[in-house]
Amino acid sequence: MLHFYNTAGRKKEKFIPIKKGFVKMYTCGPTIYDHAHIGNLSTYLFMDILRRYLKFSKYKVLDVMNFTDVDDKTIKFSKQKGVPLKKYTKKFGKSILNDFRKLNINKPKIICKATKHIQEMINLIEILLKKGYAYQASDKSVYFNISKFRNYGKFAKVKRKKLLNGASGRILSDEYNKENVSDFVLWKTWDKDDGNVFWNSPFGKGRPGWHIECSAMSMKYLGPSFDIHTGAVDLIFPHHQNEIAQSEAATGKKFVKYWLHRGFLQVNKNKMSKSLGNLYVLDEILKKVDDPMAFRYLVLTSHYRKSLNFTFSSLKSSKRALDRIREFTERVLSQQNKSKNNKKNLIEIKKETKKARNNFIKAMDDDLNTSKAIAGIFNFVNKINKLIDKNMVDKGGIKLIYLFIKEIDQVWGFLIPKKQKASKTKHKDKIKELIKKRNKLRQLKNWEKADKIKTKLIKMGVELKDTSQKTIWKIK
Ligand code: AMP
Ligand code: ZN
Repeated sequence: MLHFYNTAGRKKEKFIPIKKGFVKMYTCGPTIYDHAHIGNLSTYLFMDILRRYLKFSKYKVLDVMNFTDVDDKTIKFSKQKGVPLKKYTKKFGKSILNDFRKLNINKPKIICKATKHIQEMINLIEILLKKGYAYQASDKSVYFNISKFRNYGKFAKVKRKKLLNGASGRILSDEYNKENVSDFVLWKTWDKDDGNVFWNSPFGKGRPGWHIECSAMSMKYLGPSFDIHTGAVDLIFPHHQNEIAQSEAATGKKFVKYWLHRGFLQVNKNKMSKSLGNLYVLDEILKKVDDPMAFRYLVLTSHYRKSLNFTFSSLKSSKRALDRIREFTERVLSQQNKSKNNKKNLIEIKKETKKARNNFIKAMDDDLNTSKAIAGIFNFVNKINKLIDKNMVDKGGIKLIYLFIKEIDQVWGFLIPKKQKASKTKHKDKIKELIKKRNKLRQLKNWEKADKIKTKLIKMGVELKDTSQKTIWKIK
């Protein structure tokens, strides 16, 4: 049975989704003012493994991630570069999706940009004003009154006596620490530094605060109550505490059932920062170890709640370990043409794969214990290698082993090298033929049949993009 450590109760709990068999989850995504650093990416890798494991466990998953494309930082940097905000943030939105592709992070079903949801944020602020949880101050900005929300501070374990509200403790900046717990901004009134970045609202021209963005967008797509919310530990306070306050004050319902937080990634035991010169983006680390899967592997070797100490030597060892697993996969594939079948041998392989599968599930069910689950893979690899050495694995056995690897690779995403996946599906002519057929059907407006072909192509690992002139495709 799946268990997660829930930050809300600070303990491991059984995972029981609100609706049986269905999981709704939200991840606090990037602020797209720069390329994502490897710390951000470690959090998205955690989101990815969580989602993949939920699917492996037969849940249907609806997942949402926000892209913060308006805030103090995006405005400041776009101004510095002299590029309009929209154009500036678009570049970094693309950059992170590129990183996702390289790291085999599945794209969330819904990615929502803050600037496309201003109305939803205004609506939520209006409710909070109407219910008396928010007020417009003399500076014209709208603030959340923390003293009105009885449980403010409970989630983040912030002492109530430290709470300041009203004019003495009002905070306009989106980020602050536990020392200045205070009324936080929902709508920032326009000031000249914002330039042409503003929206009109019933509270005057301005822009939303960062916290309201996640409440408005998560509830738009997932409803007032949903199952899982993720992010890294830095977001527990104030961001997630504020999301809870805003959402629950507005709806009167419990906002999120399970809060899962990733530990921080550090570099050589130091906090990553530009001033220390140890802030890396993916392309920088790939210059030293040219295999994005090595970083994926490295992140997954330690438990997600622990802080992860990144070093280049650990990245290199990850690459070596990963290569060993892949050599095994290749060895298994190369044995596929074996002919004879020996019943006794097959029983042995069945036993080993079943044991390995059970161990995998046991480890992952325990709050996604990926480090234990990876140790299990090595156990399996060693055992099977020995059996292959002794010529005890026949055709049927190889098939079982390969099916098992394929099955768990839906979660790991690094066991089978991409080129092998591609070579298996690289029936280029077949793909071209199907695309041609689909386009004909589209011209005839036979959407149903066209969609069936699209589904088939997706299953073959093909990514499609329809432009007005043609269909662009590639093998994932
Ligand atoms: P940001 O773009 O700063 O809003 O961060 C995007 C995501 O990355 C959030 O979920 C953060 O909690 C997470 N994050 C930021 N820094 C780190 C880090 N050093 N290690 C792990 N996650 C991080
Ligand atoms: Zn958020």
